[in-house]
Amino acid sequence: MIESATISNNLDVYSLRQQFPALDRKVKGKPLVYFDNAATAQKPQVVIETLNQYYTQYNANIHRGIHTLAEEATAAFEATRDTVRQYIHATSREEIIFTRGTTEGINLVASTWGRQNIDKGDEIIISTMEHHSNIVPWQILCQEKEAVLKIIPIHDNGELILEEYEKLISPKTKFVSIVHVSNALGTVNPVKKIINIAHRAGAKVLVDGAQSAVHFDINVEDLDCDFFVLSSHKIYGPTGVGVLYGKKSLLESMPVYQGGGEMIKEVSFKKTIYNDLPYKFEAGTPNIADTVAFKAALDFVQATGKEKIRKHESSLLAHATAKLSEIPGLRIVGTAKDKTSVVSFVMEGIHPQDIGILLDNQGIAVRTGHHCTQPLMDRLGIPGTARVSLAMYNTMEEIDALIPGVHKVKKMLS
Ligand code: PMP
Repeated sequence: MIESATISNNLDVYSLRQQFPALDRKVKGKPLVYFDNAATAQKPQVVIETLNQYYTQYNANIHRGIHTLAEEATAAFEATRDTVRQYIHATSREEIIFTRGTTEGINLVASTWGRQNIDKGDEIIISTMEHHSNIVPWQILCQEKEAVLKIIPIHDNGELILEEYEKLISPKTKFVSIVHVSNALGTVNPVKKIINIAHRAGAKVLVDGAQSAVHFDINVEDLDCDFFVLSSHKIYGPTGVGVLYGKKSLLESMPVYQGGGEMIKEVSFKKTIYNDLPYKFEAGTPNIADTVAFKAALDFVQATGKEKIRKHESSLLAHATAKLSEIPGLRIVGTAKDKTSVVSFVMEGIHPQDIGILLDNQGIAVRTGHHCTQPLMDRLGIPGTARVSLAMYNTMEEIDALIPGVHKVKKMLS
C-alpha cells in the first residue's frame, strides 16, 4: 500500500485505506494502485465482516420463517431497504425493489412498464453515451413493439447536445432513459433538466445511476425521476445486488416481472393474486447475504461523509487530469465541464489494451477497451480508451505513481 499520510479535504485517506484489505496487496511485486473503481469498487472490512457474520450466525431464508434465524435474516434484509430509501431520499420503502444490479433494473422496467405502455410507432429516447445495458433492453423492446429508438447526440467533448434532445421530443415520445454519469467519460449529465423536458411532453424517465450513486447525494424526489437504478458493487458493497427505485403509482400499475415464490399472495390453478409492493417484483429467494452487507457499505459511505468524499475525489480528478494532460501524445477523451472521477485517455500509436497490460505489470489497475459503450466509441472514432476511475481511497501519490508508469509505457511502445 502506498503510504499516504495526507488528510485530503478533511478526509483521512490513510486511515480509510486501512479499512480496505485488498488495497494492501501487491501485484507483480508492486503495491497495488487500484484505478478501476468505475468497474467495481473494493470492499471495506465491515462489508466483508457483515457477510461473514450473516453466514456464521443467521443464515436463513427470509419472510416465510418464524424461527429466530429467519426473523433475524428478514430484519437485516429489510433494514437494507430502509437504508437505501433514506440514501436516495425516496418517500416510501415500497418504492425500493431489490434486483441483481443496474442491468436487471433496466430490463425489469423495459419488460414490464415498456411492454405495457409502448406501442407501434412510439418513441424511446436514449443518448450516445449509454452503457450497453441501457441500450440493448430498449432495442429488444422496440423490435418487439415496432417502436423507434432515438439517440441524443453529443459534442466532441462528451457533453449531450441538449438542443438536439429538445428537438427529438415529440408527442410520440413515451420514455427517456438516460445515464446520470458516463462510465466511459465521467460526464455528469443534467438529468433534472432532462427529466423536466420529458415530463412536459408526458414521457416517463429512467435514470441510470450506476456511476452516480457512489459520488453524489441522490435525491429521487427532487430529481422527480420515474425510475432510478443502481448497483451495490459500485458503492463499496457486494456484487449481485442492485436497486430499482420507481414511483409507487407506476410500480403499482406495472405488470409483474418474474413469477414464483415471494411475489404472490395466493396461488390456485385458476388464479394467482400478486403480492403488494415491493415484493411483487421480488420473485424467488433473493441474494440475502449480499443485500444485508450492502447496508454496511451504505452506512460506511455515509459515516465517512459524502461531501468529504466528493471534495477529495474532485481534487484527485483535477490532479490526474492536469498530470496526464502534460504527457506528449496523450489525449484525454471526455472533457465535459461537469465531470466526476473518470479520466479516459488514448495515446498516439498505442493500443489501449497495451497500456492496460503494461500498467498492470507496474501494479497499476486501469480498465481498457470500449467500456460497454461501443456506440460512444464509434461516435468518437476510437476503438477504446484507457480509463482511470477514482474512489474515496485513492491518493495523490497513486496518481503521481501513474504518471511515470504511463511514460514507461510510451517509451516501451513508441
Ligand atoms: N450503467 C452504467 C453507466 C455502468 O457503468 C454500468 C456498469 N459498468 C452499468 C450500467 C451496468 O451495471 P451492472 O453491471 O452492475 O448491472
